[in-house]
Amino acid sequence: MTASLQTDVVIVGGGPAGLAAAVALGRSRREVIVVDAGAPRNALAEGAHNLLGQEGVSPMELLARGRSEAESYGVRILSEVATGASGVLDDFTIEVDDVRIHARRVVLATGLVDDLPAVPGVAEAWGHTVLHCPYCHGWEVRDQRIAVLGRNENALHQVMLFRQLSEHVTFFLHDAPEPTEEQWEQLAALGVCVVTPRVERLVVEGTQVRAVEIESGRQFAADAVVVAPRLIARTVLYESLGGERTTTPYGEQITADARGITAVPGVWTAGNAGDLSAMIAVSAASGLMVGAAVHGDLTAADLAQAVRARRVPSSAAREAENHAAVFSDRRHGIGTRSNGGEPPIPPHSMLQ
Ligand SMILES: Cc1cc2nc3c(=O)[nH]c(=O)nc-3n(C[C@H](O)[C@H](O)[C@H](O)COP(=O)(O)OP(=O)(O)OC[C@H]3O[C@@H](n4cnc5c(N)ncnc54)[C@H](O)[C@@H]3O)c2cc1C
Repeated sequence: MTASLQTDVVIVGGGPAGLAAAVALGRSRREVIVVDAGAPRNALAEGAHNLLGQEGVSPMELLARGRSEAESYGVRILSEVATGASGVLDDFTIEVDDVRIHARRVVLATGLVDDLPAVPGVAEAWGHTVLHCPYCHGWEVRDQRIAVLGRNENALHQVMLFRQLSEHVTFFLHDAPEPTEEQWEQLAALGVCVVTPRVERLVVEGTQVRAVEIESGRQFAADAVVVAPRLIARTVLYESLGGERTTTPYGEQITADARGITAVPGVWTAGNAGDLSAMIAVSAASGLMVGAAVHGDLTAADLAQAVRARRVPSSAAREAENHAAVFSDRRHGIGTRSNGGEPPIPPHSMLQ
């Protein structure tokens, strides 16, 4: 039998973005349900870095703390996968197994999938000694033998960032474009060795990279390999709700403005789903902003509804009540405005 739940806001995704939105909404006494499959993007990493006050915390421990903080404000968390989405503003339905969650607003904080280069060994060591971000785990491989596996024109940028962390950086061109004359000069100035034949595989023991093997069979010793995943936001639910994903040079995402407002009224996005470059702190910050924006939107809608409900039926007694409640020389709160008395409702895009 299908069960039915009603809530103000359903948040799909309980990573840093979704949980930060949930805390903001829960603390504002909104009814919130978070649906979370429990597989954050950095789950494989030993610790999360560049997170002020929580440096090195285990990713799963961070989320456990976030869940319990959200729950302390009355947020309900379903450890499930949301498989479907439908509806419109004020009347959305999110499908979770045999449960239908009906919500007035939707926040999509579903994160992204790292689409890794199809080189044997990359997936095995991903998140451990196959890396992508100098801020997430660059310090941990400082002074080691770092191989950059080129995928696109961004590879040279990665070489430069990781060269700051180690003198032993080798650039495997692989799928990256041939450097220009100026770039060859830059690589020489940095003392970076460049290997032009294609990479055949990584030699990996467990999750530890040992070497990079090129097509001739020759191996180059390495302790860490830097790759450029294509970043594919989970947009299926957004598309089910009528949204369109956007392709960027780095991948695909939900298009939203700086406050997470999407093109679909009533649907917000936070974290990596709408910002491929957002790290943990940025994702949590965007969740907080979205939580506040959704609360503001609901507050305006509730107010408009309360005013409408109070006006009908209009009566002399209601007018007298209104008169008594306002201490001012302008006591007629109803019917004096040029738009017929309707308080102005900020447009969706202007709400905080
Ligand atoms: C290996 C690695 C290491 C990293 N290290 C760092 C670091 O040290 N510091 C840092 O700042 N950043 C780091 N990052 C980046 C960090 O992982 C992201 O910034 C962060 O996870 C984004 O948060 P999010 O909430 O947007 O998405 P996520 O954390 O990915 O959370 C999304 C959640 O939504 C759930 N979900 C998705 N679809 C559904 C669905 N249909 N139904 C239910 N649940 C769903 C997922 O299971 C997941 O729990 C690292 C990334 C990687 C790949």
